[in-house]
Amino acid sequence: MHAASRRTLSLGPGQGPLLYWGGFDRDVKLGDPRAMSSTGPAAVLFDMDGTLIDSEKLWTIALDDYAVHRGGRLSEATREHMVGSNMTRSMVMLLADIGLPTGPDEVDRAASWVAARTAELFHDGLPWRPGAQDALRAVRAAGLRSALVTSTIRSLTEIALDTIGREHFDVTVCGDEVDGRNKPHPEPYLKAARLLGVEPGECVAVEDSPTGVASAEAAGCRVIAIPCEVPLQPGERRVLRESLEGFDVTALSAA
Ligand SMILES: [Mg+2]
Repeated sequence: MHAASRRTLSLGPGQGPLLYWGGFDRDVKLGDPRAMSSTGPAAVLFDMDGTLIDSEKLWTIALDDYAVHRGGRLSEATREHMVGSNMTRSMVMLLADIGLPTGPDEVDRAASWVAARTAELFHDGLPWRPGAQDALRAVRAAGLRSALVTSTIRSLTEIALDTIGREHFDVTVCGDEVDGRNKPHPEPYLKAARLLGVEPGECVAVEDSPTGVASAEAAGCRVIAIPCEVPLQPGERRVLRESLEGFDVTALSAA
């Protein structure tokens, strides 16, 4: 176990814990004193779109623009299903939704168009999700390891990192760096844990989408689930929150 794992996440003085860290003991629930005394995570793994930055709305603009460019209109239901998905999967859904072929060449062309449009929008400025900046700083201040685990391709992620700040992460895993095994496959989170040198079960993931939560949970991570565009349901390995506001990381003694 990584030395930094002896930590407890909390909301700060008087506000109670953000996540009682119970290891793999599924019987330890929120409010259980056994969980309050257990050790904390070794690393925090952050999703990007919809979790740190309010970029899903920018993706919606780019996707809508592409549909119009091709003479169609993207349905709300299909857009909702895309949230948290990688580019290839999203383009297949988009093309099918507007009645166009979904072959590899069509998908590649659509992906290039949407990526270019999204890059324009990302360059225009990325709004933060509430509490996200403070949460990143708190993780760093507590000496925890940190990763960015996103379905977005590297080229667009690098634009976003100009706003978010690369210094917040030990490693970054992008959607085009997991050999096609994108969320909800566990590989993005498994890869982040491998690169950090920690066990997935020692990690807390922060996610906003059903697809992302499924990926993190399948990898064995605990999840702080903060819905943005799509509702999230409660689950055994997740703690639902309204936002990252109030996020604090309190280091315990090494004993
Ligand atoms: Mg997301």
